[in-house]
Amino acid sequence: MRTLEITTKTALVRSRIPGAAYVINPYTGCSHGCRYCYAVFMRRYSRQHQAWPWGSFVEVKTNIAQVLRRELTRKRRSTTAMLSSVCDPYQPVEARYRLTRACLEVLREYGWGIEILTRSPLVTRDLDLLRTCFDVTVGFSIPTDDDRVRAVLEPMAPPIPERLAALRDVHAAGIRMGVVTSKKHALAAQTLELLDYARFMEVLIGEEDSPRHKPHPDPLWQAATQLGVSPQYTAYVGDNPDDILAARAAGMVAVGVGWCVRPCHELQSAQPNLCIDTPEALLTIVGCAAAVAVKKSYILIATT
Ligand code: SF4
Repeated sequence: MRTLEITTKTALVRSRIPGAAYVINPYTGCSHGCRYCYAVFMRRYSRQHQAWPWGSFVEVKTNIAQVLRRELTRKRRSTTAMLSSVCDPYQPVEARYRLTRACLEVLREYGWGIEILTRSPLVTRDLDLLRTCFDVTVGFSIPTDDDRVRAVLEPMAPPIPERLAALRDVHAAGIRMGVVTSKKHALAAQTLELLDYARFMEVLIGEEDSPRHKPHPDPLWQAATQLGVSPQYTAYVGDNPDDILAARAAGMVAVGVGWCVRPCHELQSAQPNLCIDTPEALLTIVGCAAAVAVKKSYILIATT
């Protein structure tokens, strides 16, 4: 893992994510290295690491809290900022640099709302601070309850048991939480019950919570809206052309899977953004995935 200290000219970036007017990314690059990461495109904004594999480098914006303070001083109104959209704000380097914490302190000082999206239990380090912030939401990514699957999909991200333990801590700190999934609502609810986490979640969104169906984009939009995420930050993964057409109509990244009903070349007429030929991880999750929508912090799954 290569860590490089850099400086930045901007901290707040305008966002179209519902519920978050701005995003803040203290780091460029993400050492979690998730296989499905949608943020790989960020390499092209790096001077040093354009050709490096995603997950092998992190650029540390050492002055971001100072820049953020300067920007907030100029804002007339407070609103909400999300940490983060193209990195995990609590990836391992945060333990050393504490940039996310420094940004939270500035946001608190200016009375801004805060939305955190992470895979890392390191967020619990900042519970003392978050308890005193204005309007805080903490979102955790827990795409599977099977840590063997996690090891395939998110090889360098924290193990699932550690994330579940962190969820308990976050809840105990009085911070509101929810789960969003496109699994059947009842199935997702059952899973939460089995894990004994249903009592911690205020929101559960399931696959059947949309009246229109693929290839119409409505179900995908509804999932994105209720997630509070822009479609542009969502990838929809499916095994038939309707999945791909729905994803494209919704403005999401369309990903075809070639191991279920049709091989990848039969999906090409629908023009997916990419096709996946290595099924093991997704097959392990759902048996045979009909559709998986991947958002920064959530994986939504519908089965055939
Ligand atoms: S999906 Fe999120 S946590 Fe995983 S590598 Fe990408 S930015 Fe990091």
